[in-house]
Amino acid sequence: MSFNDNIQLDPGRVTTSKGGRGGRGLAIGGGGSLLVVIALVVISQLTGVDLIGGLTGSGGQQQSQSAAPGIDLSHCTSGQAANQKDECRMVATAQSLDAMWGEQLPQQANTEYAKPGFQIFQNSVSTQCGTASANVGPFYCPGDKTVYLDLSFFKQLSQFGAKNGPLAQEYIVAHEFGHHIQNLTGQFTAHDTRQSGDGSDAVRMELQADCYAGIWVNRASQTVDKNSGEAFLQKPSDTQIADALGVAAAIGDDHLQQQSQGGVNPDSWTHGSSEQRTRWFKTGIEQGSMQACDTFSATDL
Ligand SMILES: [Zn+2]
Repeated sequence: MSFNDNIQLDPGRVTTSKGGRGGRGLAIGGGGSLLVVIALVVISQLTGVDLIGGLTGSGGQQQSQSAAPGIDLSHCTSGQAANQKDECRMVATAQSLDAMWGEQLPQQANTEYAKPGFQIFQNSVSTQCGTASANVGPFYCPGDKTVYLDLSFFKQLSQFGAKNGPLAQEYIVAHEFGHHIQNLTGQFTAHDTRQSGDGSDAVRMELQADCYAGIWVNRASQTVDKNSGEAFLQKPSDTQIADALGVAAAIGDDHLQQQSQGGVNPDSWTHGSSEQRTRWFKTGIEQGSMQACDTFSATDL
């Protein structure tokens, strides 16, 4: 989707590997939150949640962060910049997601929205979920409530047979923010996602994040940037939506397994098939409702 040129961006919304983690909006409200936080920390020592099932960055061994210079985001001040530069598109997408979930999460789930951190890194990054290298792909760490992404991942999309278009990139960010929403609504403590396989809670968690990404596509063009008074995004075209659905299909477990192993093994699925990922993403796009994204109750996943 294209951003409206005049929306105003805050480059500080996204941090880079040189600049340290974002620290705003991390509190969880409500009673008993300490127990929730402790439980999440325990989970985070096992793993984070990723986009394509490649996450190996657990173990908790802390290494120093990459010495590569941080990516400069200071020029990311407008929607026009977001339409031209990948790094600025990340800032705009995060702000759009913040505004959309800030409205929808209290309405739809009676839960206050708190922004996740969003860090762009290069080469490798230390997190509360362990140290990750760029080859694990984008991921969300529940322990520090931060989305981590290496921009070089977008160049790999073509290897999966997908187009590296704007909405494709935005879908990836929206999927990771979807995991943050699951964190805020307690899904990580309610379900054991360590077991993989077709129909497992791990797969249900990932398909729900795809559906939540669809909610953003549904609602982003109606969410207004308070600074400029304009909607963040123009309404997506059918072609743009088809391209984004193509990405969801390309990163289905069956497609990735076929590509890397020459065969498909549903018992080891972590994210769902191409058909499932596409369908749940589409459900979010069409219905815009968290209730429609209840993958945990779905009998026909
Ligand atoms: Zn995921």
